[in-house]
Amino acid sequence: MKILVLNSGSSSLKFKLYLMPERKLLAEGMIARIGEEESEIRLLYGDQSFDEKVKLANHHEALERLEALLPRLKILGNFAKLGAVGHRVVHGGEAFAESVRIDGEVRETIRRLIPLAPLHNPANLEGIDAFKVLAPGVPQVAVFDTAFHQTMPPEAYRYAIPKAWYRRYHVRRYGFHGISHAYVSRQLARLTARPIETLNAVTLHLGNGASACAVVGGRSVETSMGLTPLEGLVMGTRSGDLDPAILPYMHRQAGLSFPELERELNRESGLKGLGGSNDMREIQKRMAAGEEGAKLAFEVFVHRLLKYVGAYAVMLGRLDALVFTGGIGEHSPEVRAALCERLGILGIVLDAEANAVDSGAPEPIHAPESRSEIWVIPTDEEGVIAEESYRIVSENDSPK
Ligand code: ADP
Repeated sequence: MKILVLNSGSSSLKFKLYLMPERKLLAEGMIARIGEEESEIRLLYGDQSFDEKVKLANHHEALERLEALLPRLKILGNFAKLGAVGHRVVHGGEAFAESVRIDGEVRETIRRLIPLAPLHNPANLEGIDAFKVLAPGVPQVAVFDTAFHQTMPPEAYRYAIPKAWYRRYHVRRYGFHGISHAYVSRQLARLTARPIETLNAVTLHLGNGASACAVVGGRSVETSMGLTPLEGLVMGTRSGDLDPAILPYMHRQAGLSFPELERELNRESGLKGLGGSNDMREIQKRMAAGEEGAKLAFEVFVHRLLKYVGAYAVMLGRLDALVFTGGIGEHSPEVRAALCERLGILGIVLDAEANAVDSGAPEPIHAPESRSEIWVIPTDEEGVIAEESYRIVSENDSPK
């Protein structure tokens, strides 16, 4: 069965086509700048690639174009031939603790949650609606970035704010990157050949967005992102934690409006705000060249991480493993070393040689005497969405 995994952003669409259950990647690609003068399509399949620049007004047109291209490139007949479409849906609120097959009610709930994810959920809905028209018979599945964190206890998810903010406006911590945290926790259990129920881990997803998660027995009990992905760690362009009083202060002092503040904290802060680049590779390069701003960005990034890992380790009581994933987690031995050096108080000891290797495969990187294991585990969010979609449509198809 062929399954298409879609990750819709406000002006982009990333996709991967899998053969399931083999989990074989048949094609992948991206359509960027949707709604602009010229949209860009890039497709990779087998050892070939295809590029095109064409005007696409919205996600529906983008998917129509993709459907026209797939047979031409001999990748797939048409969308009706798909066994399922799996959507990465950013915000499932309190409504979804697991992946679901999309029906009218699910669609309506995702729509109702738009105020919590005003950029992301509408884009997800556009993809869902486009498929309903283009391939009405193909089952669609929603896999939520928030679902894994629905197991957090109230003391972790409630903010200390007036009760009505939560009751009436749903202001609480939801957490994101759940697909990735769940996946690397399961992988950790598999790789260490230990039942997941027995494992206490801290998983660090460090990409453009970054979050930490405390996982007990395969369940998220605490995570660093909150109502939105802005809370927590320092990220490429997001500030992470800050004093909320900074917002009214900057409003009064600099005349910034709330949309401007939101934009600056999401797009102009983090590594970019401190060090001039949102890219950790660039930060490390500039730091090696002696640039002070870049060094500060790196240090603030690691310092914030340290605060979270330290707190989570204490919360867990026993830390069996620390897991690094995401672009930075997987590929920056410098970040891993800087963090682990400062975690010595927990008995954590990195194996410097293992840490320096970038094999692209899951690898343990702790020294034999380390009290906790340390792992690099490449994440595979699209693969998880394909698996979840396959599982859900297979369950639905089998006799009850
Ligand atoms: P996204 O969150 O968009 O999926 P990724 O998980 O690919 O992004 O992570 C992107 C981040 O990973 C960028 O900050 C990039 O600089 C960083 N990164 C990738 N390779 C390296 C490397 N070799 N050393 C340091 N950072 C790296």
